[in-house]
Amino acid sequence: MADLAAPAIVAQVFDAVPLATIIIDQQGIIQAFSKRAEQMFGYSAADIVGKNIAVLTPPHVAAHHDSYLANHARTGERRIIGANRIEMARHHAGHNFPVELNVSPLNLGDRAGYVGFLRPVGGSDLQQREARSMLAELAQASRVSAMGALATAIAHELNQPLTNIANFTQGLSNLVSKQDEFKGRDEVLRILGNCSSQAVRAGQLLHRLRDFVKGGQPVTEPSRVSELVRDAAALAMINGYKRTIHMAHDIPADLPMVDVDRLQAQQVLFNLLRNAFEAVDAEHGGRHEIFISARDTGDGFVQINVEDEGPGIAQEIADSLFESFVTTKGGGMGVGLAICKQIVESYGGRIGVEQSSNLHGAAFHFTLPIVPGPTGAGD
Ligand code: ADP
Repeated sequence: MADLAAPAIVAQVFDAVPLATIIIDQQGIIQAFSKRAEQMFGYSAADIVGKNIAVLTPPHVAAHHDSYLANHARTGERRIIGANRIEMARHHAGHNFPVELNVSPLNLGDRAGYVGFLRPVGGSDLQQREARSMLAELAQASRVSAMGALATAIAHELNQPLTNIANFTQGLSNLVSKQDEFKGRDEVLRILGNCSSQAVRAGQLLHRLRDFVKGGQPVTEPSRVSELVRDAAALAMINGYKRTIHMAHDIPADLPMVDVDRLQAQQVLFNLLRNAFEAVDAEHGGRHEIFISARDTGDGFVQINVEDEGPGIAQEIADSLFESFVTTKGGGMGVGLAICKQIVESYGGRIGVEQSSNLHGAAFHFTLPIVPGPTGAGD
């Protein structure tokens, strides 16, 4: 029987692992670099072994690596439950790409170390291009939704004055029509009739504008929550890649699939993640963790949670958070959460927020319907 611990066999197994595999020591110095890692990063093992792991991350993240490792060594603390993380990585050629990372502590004999398993999330050049166009599509969808929210608000606000104008002109017409001796009566009645019909037309135009920006009907399909989360997280990472934000997720493998329009579901997740990014950014000096989790609620829905380490929801807007044009940000539109609510509720789901018990920032949660019937099971 072969000695399975023989170095040659271990090396073969190391290279056969279907994920890019990297071993580092406590100081972050790369000890081993698998074939898949070579393919993923464009470095050969010979070039990279002995270098600091920081070369595989964008410079702004690299600056935080040493303190991160030192902190882990000192406290043994896992920053967050659920070891699946999404981070930005850096290719030898100089471009950044998101990866899903799973790190475990390792005993290197004379000292401690870590082994990391990585897989690209929209990471190849082709997928990167897809991610970019997806981002553009999401931005477009957000703009369209924002216009929809704007049109709805304008329609709502203008509806009453327009109705009043129509009613007043009608009242005036009635009054004038009784004035038999009024010389220009017919001409005035004609003009008042025009006023009234123009007011009605303006109202109809507003409604048509609202329907127009609402766009086509969403196309629902069975979707894996883990994929929706990974895609939206990768897009959020690419979009905000200059920030030193760490994202982790805990999504059960047996979670049922949800019946949604993928773009819409991603729009909700993306908006929540973008807000979480901005919230942790606002909290200077704080730790920059975002945690995404999901569970089956047991009544036909999956609940997805997005928690952050930001300052939490400002008291003054807590009651009107999901209404349009509510914002605390200088350049904010205040429509992101209103759009999320509109999308989630169109599927019969709910959206809400509380304080995160883990991360002490905001914990948003929303539900999406499970695919009906016995085929709902996911992975
Ligand atoms: P905008 O981001 O344009 O302000 P949103 O509707 O997405 O619009 O958010 C409305 C407001 O809700 C934000 O201005 C912010 O005050 C608050 N908010 C949203 N997400 C968070 C969060 N994760 N942490 C703290 N506050 C948040």
